[in-house]
Amino acid sequence: MTGVEKMQKVELHQHVDGSIPVDVTWRLMKKHGLHPVETKKEMEKLLVLQEGEEGALLRYLDKFHYPQWITQFYDNITFVIESIIAEAYDNNVRLLELRYAPIIHSFAGLTLRQTISSVLSGINKAKKRFPDMELGLIVIAMRHQGPHIAKILARQAISESQFLHQRAGVIGFDLAGAERGNPARLFGESYAIARAGGLHLTIHAGEDEGPQAIWESIDILGATRIGHGCSAIQDKTLLKRLAKDRILIECCYTSNYQTGAVKIGAPHPILTFLEHGIPVSICTDNTTVSATDQNKENQILLQWLSLTDLAEIHKNAEKYSFVHHNGKPRALHAKTRGSKRKNT
Ligand SMILES: [Zn+2]
Repeated sequence: MTGVEKMQKVELHQHVDGSIPVDVTWRLMKKHGLHPVETKKEMEKLLVLQEGEEGALLRYLDKFHYPQWITQFYDNITFVIESIIAEAYDNNVRLLELRYAPIIHSFAGLTLRQTISSVLSGINKAKKRFPDMELGLIVIAMRHQGPHIAKILARQAISESQFLHQRAGVIGFDLAGAERGNPARLFGESYAIARAGGLHLTIHAGEDEGPQAIWESIDILGATRIGHGCSAIQDKTLLKRLAKDRILIECCYTSNYQTGAVKIGAPHPILTFLEHGIPVSICTDNTTVSATDQNKENQILLQWLSLTDLAEIHKNAEKYSFVHHNGKPRALHAKTRGSKRKNT
């Protein structure tokens, strides 16, 4: 085993839909007679971003549509969750936060509650198999479905929170999807609901929008972590703010080049974030779509960082995890304007 493989890792940004192993999707498609092509090899091309397809967010998002054919059913959802967690465990991930948009799993009639509890059932089954793993779920609202749906999801997420049920449950709230045309500032109420209900807050921001999207996410929504945050490097004042308030950036190296959030050939923003003393975590985003895993992401970063640096990043990321520790919520790390909540 290499040093990277041996190192225990923390994964704070991984989507369920983009991380279902090809084998598992293929098996479930065959079982239900839902396979659009005849071989697993052909299916793999539809699920994994191919050479020449990099650089555009829409081409990247297109890879998410086939998994949805099978993840509309309770048992299938539970099954894919267990397989994703097992794969992370093999990468020596010992703290894993999965994230998932319940509403895009309700097309076959599952209620919102069932779309969440099917995931939690998989997480809790996996916890029995891997007792040395800490696990939790972040509920995602999709930006293009608008602020009202986001509020409904925030309420539903609270009802399944780890905080209430004292077992692996929902730990956080997130907003994802196209940033352009769906500004963060419109989602303030859903974030206020989630926070009042004891959920921690992260958000996809600065992936296909400028630094303003990140300002709104921290100032108006009160997010304490930012997914991607790539455009923050354009704004020195923002970099200072992120460092001062200890707002962690969930960095997804491979995915950022594939979606065009970072131009191919340009240095990755994680290096700028580290120079400015901003907390970061190393994340996969989507292990299947991006054809990556925790070992690969860390291996790539060894070009600029030492093994000790990487281990330090993971150790630090653990402090920013939303998973409750020994039954107690972890501390929030950032003070936000307009928030009088005491972070204990
Ligand atoms: Zn993401």
